[in-house]
Parts: sequence; structure tokens; C-alpha cells
Amino acid sequence: MTLPPKVAIASSNTGKIQEINEMFHGLNIQLLSQIDLGIREGEEPHDTFMENALSKARHASRNSGLPALADDSGICVYALSGQPGVRSARFAGHGASDKQNINHLMDLMKQQVDCRAYYYCVLVLVRQHNDSAPLFTDGRWCGELLREPRGEGGFGYDPVFFDPNVCLTGAEMSFDQKNKLSHRGKAVRKMRLLLESGVF
Ligand code: IMP
Repeated sequence: MTLPPKVAIASSNTGKIQEINEMFHGLNIQLLSQIDLGIREGEEPHDTFMENALSKARHASRNSGLPALADDSGICVYALSGQPGVRSARFAGHGASDKQNINHLMDLMKQQVDCRAYYYCVLVLVRQHNDSAPLFTDGRWCGELLREPRGEGGFGYDPVFFDPNVCLTGAEMSFDQKNKLSHRGKAVRKMRLLLESGVF
């Protein structure tokens, strides 16, 4: 019996790793998190999600010797010209907690009337660190920012991200419901289709 190929997940964010693992279930791939592989977090020096995802995937692949899958994602707010964007994880400063990032965003939104926002996610899969034809997919989840957090689930900005189609925040949804609607869910499903078509 041949073992399923191993792929490193280039993230140390346990919320994301859990979602990605769940959504790749059933594919003949063994996903190993970068934490388990003892690889430090890759740099995110760029201004676009795509460039950051690619550099994280190359970093994880270079250090593990395995193919690597990276996600770069964040929340973009119309009234703030797309901020926090690629700086979502460190919006209130390096090492900021989810709560500190949310509080910083809520402070900036006090003067704003336009609450529209969207989550965006890019997924990149490299076969090896210098892969010249990486696989890219993306996904977007449109919604609104609330003024007060609601719900206990999810991670990051989920307690203030409200989907008006289902009248729930990301933190009030079940795991499965969030994966159906979310930016990451959309990007993962597209990546699954690519993998199932055999291009990997
Ligand atoms: P990254 O590790 O640079 O991709 O950071 C992504 C950041 O965007 C996370 O730390 C969260 O703050 C935010 N983010 C991305 N996806 C989600 C999500 O599904 N829910 C809540 N916050 C998210």
C-alpha cells in the first residue's frame, strides 16, 4: 500500500489549520502543520495576499523538503480603503491578540457610516520550493462590520463580521456553516477541484 503524499501547511494559526484540515478531508493527502514540522512562521513582507501566500509556501517547502500549501487571508474594509488587508493579523501591532485587533478596528470604525467589509483568502500550493508553476486559488466572503462583538466561535475578526444573508456573525456559525460561506472555504473547494483533476 502506498502512503498518501505529505504536504506541509505553511501556517501556525490553529484556527486556519483546523479549517483547512477539515475541508481537505477525504483527499489522498497527509497534511502536516508547520508547527508539527518545527518550522518557524514565514515572513509576510508584501502588499498583496498572493505574494505573501507564495512566499510562505516557498518558505515551508524549502524548510520541510515537502510540497507546501499556504493561505494568506485577511479582512478588507471599504471605509478604510481596504485596511487591515494583509496586515489583519498585526493590525494593532506585532503580536497583537484577536481582541486587540478587533478593538483597534472598532475604534477606527467609530467615525464611519459605511460598514461593508469582506474577507479574502488566497491559497497557494507549491510542489517544491522553486516551483515555477504554483497552483493558486482564491475566495471572497462579503459582509458588514458590527459595532459590538457577537458569538464565541471562529477566530480573528469573526465576532464582528456579520453575514446579512444568514443574519449571523462568523463567530455565531457552526464550523460547517462557516466553511460553506467563507473565503477560505471557497478557495479550498477550488483547490480540491484542481487536485482532483490531477494537475498536482
Ligand atoms: P495571515 O496569517 O497573515 O494570513 O493572517 C490572517 C489574519 O486575518 C488572521 O489572523 C485574522 O486576523 C484574519 N482572518 C483571516 N481569515 C479569517 C477568518 O476566517 N475569520 C476571522 N479572521 C480571519
